[in-house]
Formats: sequence, structure tokens, C-alpha cells
Amino acid sequence: MSFSSFGFSDLLLQAINGSGYVTPTPVQLRVIPAVLAGRDVMAAAQTGTGKTACFALPLLQRLGDRPKLKSNHVRVLILTPTRELAMQVEQSIADYGKYLPLKSAVVYGGVKLNPQMMKLRGGVDLLVATPGRLLDLFSQNAVKFAQVETLVLDEADRMLDMGFIGDIRRIIALLPGKRQNLLFSATFSDEIRKLSRGLLNKPLEIDISPRNSTAKNLKQCVYEVDKGKKSALLSHLVRNKGWEQVLVFVRTRNGADNLVKKLVNDGVAAATIHGDKSQGERARALAEFKENRTRVLVATDVAARGIDINELPHVINFDLPKVAEDYIHRIGRTGRAGCEGEGISLVSADEVKLLSAIEGLIRQTLVREVETGFIPKHKVPLTRQMKIRPKKPKKGKTSAKSGEGRKTKSEQENADNKPRRGRKVQDAEQFGGRGRRGQQTRDGSAPPTRKRTTEKPKSGRRTPK
Ligand code: AMP
Repeated sequence: MSFSSFGFSDLLLQAINGSGYVTPTPVQLRVIPAVLAGRDVMAAAQTGTGKTACFALPLLQRLGDRPKLKSNHVRVLILTPTRELAMQVEQSIADYGKYLPLKSAVVYGGVKLNPQMMKLRGGVDLLVATPGRLLDLFSQNAVKFAQVETLVLDEADRMLDMGFIGDIRRIIALLPGKRQNLLFSATFSDEIRKLSRGLLNKPLEIDISPRNSTAKNLKQCVYEVDKGKKSALLSHLVRNKGWEQVLVFVRTRNGADNLVKKLVNDGVAAATIHGDKSQGERARALAEFKENRTRVLVATDVAARGIDINELPHVINFDLPKVAEDYIHRIGRTGRAGCEGEGISLVSADEVKLLSAIEGLIRQTLVREVETGFIPKHKVPLTRQMKIRPKKPKKGKTSAKSGEGRKTKSEQENADNKPRRGRKVQDAEQFGGRGRRGQQTRDGSAPPTRKRTTEKPKSGRRTPK
């Protein structure tokens, strides 16, 4: 199926062509017709599934040739959690709508109010905004909502995580009652469902990707390393592997600044974006990274939300996130829209609990690697997933000996790539044929000796619940 089958105008199709899109993504196939028909939609789609185009394209089509706006009025209001995401959504809208006679604008906090007030004067067809700044502009009479036809909540789960629920409810109360509502969220948490109940009218509900899953074309692994050696390992990997565009996540702003200093000292061009940086500095750092002038961009979770770089090949977790769900958001920055990607975590022994929580969430045991020259003094203990005992083959169905070519039921299930509790590492396809059993240092030498995940537990050892 092609984009022309949605009945888009030639001008819109021309822009879609220009973006290099050939076929709609699965979520676009389902959401676009519903938005065109004016329905409310609640879609759980991970970042990277093409969700921005899901609402941007049909809304541009619907707004196409309708009467002009009054001053300061808005027809489509799109709320996003961060300024980076706001800017990117508006950039996509501007790209898709570049041949259409429609006006779009973006407003966010942390910069002067006045230029944004000027932009809104003549009215805006599509306005992308962060909630706090939108309310500031409303209180100054710079934006009026009486003409709003559609409200989009983008990354709604993140907006709730960031404490915007009060602002969102305040904004919703100011909008005309009769309108279309579109809600996009990485997951349908209980809070999201609660919000949707008061907001959406008989929505089309779409959950394209299984909850808490990660993209299939994404290779994930863990490098075991001592805490104090992480930055040296990162410089080494970037240089030795010739990585040119690496997004690195750290937990704190200080950590981001320190890491950039070390990378730059090691001769690796690096920059950081985090909340302490001005909007100008963040935009510059992102632009330089996109243009490949900076090799490594170091980001905190909040600042990185919404970063969209086509075909970003490598995402590194320098620190594991405290909240396991953030792992999915982080590595969602790579392996997007069908492109190959690598999500690598540098893990020290003290992070084993966080690693365990992540593996539990994604229902996978991550392959572990050890780089020559960085063999850790403090080994990362086995995670809960690794300790789960494989099921014994049932008598009569398979021989008591684990014979050549025979598989237990759980091994067969794993081979089918179905997520299961206690799933083992040997998902050969996903991990490039290398499970923990095949663990090796990067130069191919043997890893330090350690327990294998497939090792038969000693008798009396309990299988965790
Ligand atoms: P999103 O999920 O909106 O953040 O989109 C992720 C990436 O996929 C962006 O870089 C889009 O430009 C790209 N994209 C969106 N739709 C398509 C499509 N149909 N074909 C190829 N790439 C797409």
C-alpha cells in the first residue's frame, strides 16, 4: 500500500516523496484513515514507529483548503513534553506541509515570550507547544482556543511522568467541547487510561507494538566494566569501532559534563545536551551532531526525549537508567523505521539490580561482552533472568540426556522468539549468533571464566518465582 491510497492531495504526496517515505509504517496504516475520518484515536506506538506522521499527515490534509484563521487563533493544537520534541514535531509538520498554504509554529519555555507572541498574531493552523509555555501565552491573550478543531497529546505518558497533568487538564478545559482528540503514548499505563476516559470519545484504540518490547532490528548487548573505566572504554569503543554518530545516555547533568570533558581529552569530538544548557546551546549541539561534526552526544533522559535523528546507529547507556522503562525510551532512538541499530550498555557490578529490572521488563537476557584491556575486577553478578532454571524435558518426549539436536520446550519457545519468563540468552538471530555461551572479548580471545547461563543449577537451588 502506498501513501496515495489515503487520498492525500498531490502537494502533500510530493512532500512525502521528498521525505523519502515509500510505504506507510504499520501504525500509519491504521491511524491515518481514522484521523482522516475525524475519529478520536488512542495509539500506543513506540518512538520510531512513524507516529508523528500518523497525525501530521492526515491533519495537514484535513486542514488543506478551509477558511482562514482569526488573529491569535489555532486550529490544531499539539502538546509535547519537551522543547526538543516540540521543535522536531514542528519541523516534521513544516516538511510535510511545505507545499501547502498552512502556517505552523512552535512555542516552548526557556526562551523569551515576545517573539512567540509575534508568531501567533496572525493565527496559526498547527501549533506545537509545551504545556507550561502555552498557558503563559494564554494568560497574556497571545493565543486563543475558540477555533481549535483537534488536540494531539504526543508522548502523553512522558507528559504525565514529568508532572504536566495539571497543566494538561487546565488546557483541555479551555478548548471547545466539540473537537477531535488524538493521544499517543509509548504505553497505556493506568494513568493514561484515566486521562483518556475523560478526554476521548469512542476512540480507535491501537496498540501496535507489544508493551515493553524493543525494536526487532535492534542489537542489544552489555559490556561488563569497572565503574572507573567506563569513560576510557567508551573512548576506546568509539575510536576502535569507527563509530561516527553515538548518542550516550547518562543519569545526571554533572555526569554528562564530566564525560564530555574526558571524551574531548581523549580526542573524541563530544558535546552534551541537558537541562542546564540554554535552548540555543542545546539546539547547536543537536545540529552539530546531526551534521556529523560532533561524534558523541551525551544526554540526560529528559533532554534526550524527542531527539529524532534518522538512522541513528548507536545508543550507549553509560549509566543504566534508574527507571527500567527509560531503557526502552533510550534505545528507541536507534533501530528506527526499519533501520539497523545497536543499543549498548556499559554496566558495572553495582548496577546489577538495575540490569535485572531491565531484563525483566523487556523479557530478555542481554548478551554480555568483555573488551580486551577492560576486564572488570568486580564482575557483574548474574541477573535474576540468568539464574532461572531451564525446564527439564518431559520424560518420554525427549531423552533424559540432552541429546544432540534435541531441544527442551523452553528452548523451542525461545527459538520461536516468543518472550517467556526465564528466557535464555541464546537468541541467535537477535544477538548475531552470540549468546553468553559464545561470549568473547572483541579480539576473539576467551572471556574470563565465569558461570554459564545454561549451567545446570546445583540440586536444591530454588527457581525464583
Ligand atoms: P517518529 O516515530 O515519528 O519519531 O518517526 C521516526 C522516524 O521514522 C522519523 O525519522 C521519520 O522521518 C521516519 N518515518 C516516519 N514515517 C516513515 C515512513 N513511512 N517510511 C520511512 N520513514 C518514516
